Amino acid sequence: MTANGDVAIVGAGLTGCLLAGYLARRGERVVLDERRPDPRLTGAERGRSINLALSERGLDALRRVGLDGTVLAGALPMRGRMVHAGKGADGALDFQPYSADGERAINSIGRRALNNLLLDAAQAPAEVEVRFEHRLTGLDPATGALTFETPDGPVHAGAAVVLGADGAGSAVRGELLRHGATTETLDFLDYGYKELTIPAVDGDFALDPGALHIWPRGRSMMIALPNPDRSFTCTLFWPTGGTESFASLSSPAAVEQYFTAHYPDVVPLLPELVTEYRENPVGLLGTVHCAPWQARGRVCLLGDAAHAIVPFYGQGANCAFEDVVVLDRCLDDTGGDWSAALPLFDRERRADTEAIAEMALANFTEMRDKIASPLFKLGKRVEHA
Ligand code: FAD
Repeated sequence: MTANGDVAIVGAGLTGCLLAGYLARRGERVVLDERRPDPRLTGAERGRSINLALSERGLDALRRVGLDGTVLAGALPMRGRMVHAGKGADGALDFQPYSADGERAINSIGRRALNNLLLDAAQAPAEVEVRFEHRLTGLDPATGALTFETPDGPVHAGAAVVLGADGAGSAVRGELLRHGATTETLDFLDYGYKELTIPAVDGDFALDPGALHIWPRGRSMMIALPNPDRSFTCTLFWPTGGTESFASLSSPAAVEQYFTAHYPDVVPLLPELVTEYRENPVGLLGTVHCAPWQARGRVCLLGDAAHAIVPFYGQGANCAFEDVVVLDRCLDDTGGDWSAALPLFDRERRADTEAIAEMALANFTEMRDKIASPLFKLGKRVEHA
């Protein structure tokens, strides 16, 4: 046991928080370090709200630690997708249920609300210590020595086991790479995303809240998921450069003209369209391939840090939650021996995450084109060894 806890988890996002709870249940002492301030005390980042479709895969992981009910209480069931196929102002609608009986649903939930709830749950057991404003800047995979940047200067720590749950741009993965302990390939799409808001109209939802709304437009695509405050968060997917792209709409008139031509039924529902389009950032989309995920049976990557995927199957967080269940099972199967459990986790989990990465890319074409047409192409590929 080290002075700073048996297990260090880097990143108090969705994966890190759920993982901390699972490990505390096993009696592990956990220190959870997060680079940001406590999100429960700070405001939302503009244009980064992201609501997630939470499905059975993720719910199963939450159910095992008794969190499904609390999470679902703040979620809205979506029983199918509502395709806004027509480009006319009346927007011809086609509802496609997710199950034959029309009863099964995926659930729309705000990522921030979900993260806050999981943070509360992670912090409840005495075994877990959470430290905010601790940004990992250094890791020695051989010794478990960690360095963090904090507002009070650098902090040094050590842990018997280090778990990297620090997202797609993982610093833990970066340190494994620097020490020659892993390799990575990053496949960026030449598409990005931007969030827009459909507020409630006269206190009610402006669209059917029981569906995930999709506007397939071939080269671009927009989706909208309902929120408990009766608004919808829209996400516009579009190429990042070129003639028809985020970069091509440079004036308020161009934004209005483009949306009126391609999304006429939504324009009246987006009162802040021009402001949001100008001020909200364009997020990048890509797939992280990394192998191995673990080093020396002591350091391991989970969630987006290990296998970030494009969001078109709505499975990134669901899959990250399932990672936690699989790691927990590997610890059971190895009698809690981390040096055996981490390589086992890497072996058992990899094929499934590779499959969902491919399916997520394929579903981009499905959502954007089958519901319309042309080919999508991959953008930049960056390989590191
Ligand atoms: P993150 O959520 O990225 O959390 C990582 C945490 O680590 C953060 O809190 C970060 O601040 C912290 N951190 C980073 N670096 C450091 C450091 N150096 N030191 C300390 N802390 C650090 N998934 C679904 O299941 N369904 C969906 O419908 C869905 N829709 C999506 C839509 C969009 C537009 C996008 C972009 C993603 C979507 N996802 C969806 C994917 C989902 O958001 C991710 O899979 C999920 O957030 C991964 O969780 P994570 O905890 O692994 O990583």
